[in-house]
Amino acid sequence: MTEAVAASATPTAADWSAAVSTIRELAPTGRVLLICHVNPDGDALGSMLGFALGLRRLGVTRLQATFAGEFEIPEPYAGLPGLDLLVPEEQAWRDPDLLLIFDVAAESRLGGLVDRLAAARATVVLDHHASNTGFGTVKLVDGAAAATSVVAEGLLQRLDVPLDVEIAECLYVALATDTGSFRFDMTTPQVHEMAARLIATGLRPGDISRRIFDSRPFGAMKLFADVLGRAQLDPTAAAGHGMVWTYATLEDLARHGQRPYVLDALIDPVRCVAEVDVSMVVKELADGVWAVSMRSKGAVDVSAVAVALGGGGHRLAAGFTGHGSPGDVAVAVRDKLDNHLI
Ligand code: AMP
Ligand code: MN
Ligand code: MN
Repeated sequence: MTEAVAASATPTAADWSAAVSTIRELAPTGRVLLICHVNPDGDALGSMLGFALGLRRLGVTRLQATFAGEFEIPEPYAGLPGLDLLVPEEQAWRDPDLLLIFDVAAESRLGGLVDRLAAARATVVLDHHASNTGFGTVKLVDGAAAATSVVAEGLLQRLDVPLDVEIAECLYVALATDTGSFRFDMTTPQVHEMAARLIATGLRPGDISRRIFDSRPFGAMKLFADVLGRAQLDPTAAAGHGMVWTYATLEDLARHGQRPYVLDALIDPVRCVAEVDVSMVVKELADGVWAVSMRSKGAVDVSAVAVALGGGGHRLAAGFTGHGSPGDVAVAVRDKLDNHLI
């Protein structure tokens, strides 16, 4: 059995030095496989590619970065430095010497690559999910970090890798994504200090923000209109704190000619609804299978709700895989909300 780390847990000096010595021992001559979570977001890709570029600067040559599932980079991240290191799941080494894992709260988020955990000589896990299940040989899990890229930068510093503009762009995209453009509560002084170090390399925050937050196809806008138009308000959910939710089907995507990842941005307008605490978007993955995104403004621990339903995440932003109809998923969530008031 593994145990979830406490939200306040941070890596110890021994954890950091174990990570440094493992990397120094295995990376220079071994095959290094980096993996981030399925359906990668900005933090998953940015922390993984930023760290991979850092290893390349150290002279590590046998490097692959990957994630499980369809080999598709969401358009907002299609310009990230280091994408040349990315290989499809099927091409990833079966028995790497060193495995580095980014932004993965639970083994299930490795998808079909989960077998690499047993095959690798050592596994270093870099993560910031309070719900992290504690897999891996060396665990750098910082429940207080705003993004996995905070942990990645800390490890690059300890490996004496200086930041350059390409590494910085990757880490910045990760940080900006997971802090909601430096708006969420975990936007600490340390987050702004890290952003300052990254921007000082010469990157262009305006260009990056436009690409990752403020750009989408016309068809995606029309899709959002349909999906937002069917949102439902449930003011009595969560002991009266209320929930708003909506769903998007594969048919909706097809009708507007859009790819599934465009729906990842849809939680933002939904979570703005003033009348409620909890917001949710239920996105069809396959017949009767749904990726569920939940957000809270502070009354409900949606991470606990997600864990109870087989998923994970953070107190105020979490997800899981749901089954049945969208209504079935909403009922399953509603039933759990009252048990996880903060
Ligand atoms: P999302 O709503 O996809 O932006 O995800 C919000 C948070 O929940 C992220 O930190 C994810 O890592 C986590 N999360 C989302 N879906 C799952 C899942 N199926 N299992 C575990 N964690 C998840
Ligand atoms: Mn993530
Ligand atoms: Mn993250």
